[in-house]
Amino acid sequence: MSAADPTWFTVDAPPAAGLWLDRHLVRGTRPADGTRVTAACGRELRVGPTPECDVDGLRLTGLRPCWACAERAMGRAPGAATRHRATRHRATG
Ligand SMILES: [Zn+2]
Repeated sequence: MSAADPTWFTVDAPPAAGLWLDRHLVRGTRPADGTRVTAACGRELRVGPTPECDVDGLRLTGLRPCWACAERAMGRAPGAATRHRATRHRATG
């Protein structure tokens, strides 16, 4: 799954916190601008161009993926533990 997958489209939204716009994923094909949709993370959004917003005069231009959307799009529950091979570190010195 990627943002280029034709079964998903992205919608950018002002962040809940921080200085990066959130890029959410919505299943399906992109409808007309102004259409209300629900992102994979559950957030209600309105389809449209990347919003222009600023915080205390600082224009937000950076984007970050919504990790809850990304995990749901990959079929995982948001926040689920990722399996990593345990690595042992020995104290040296
Ligand atoms: Zn999201």
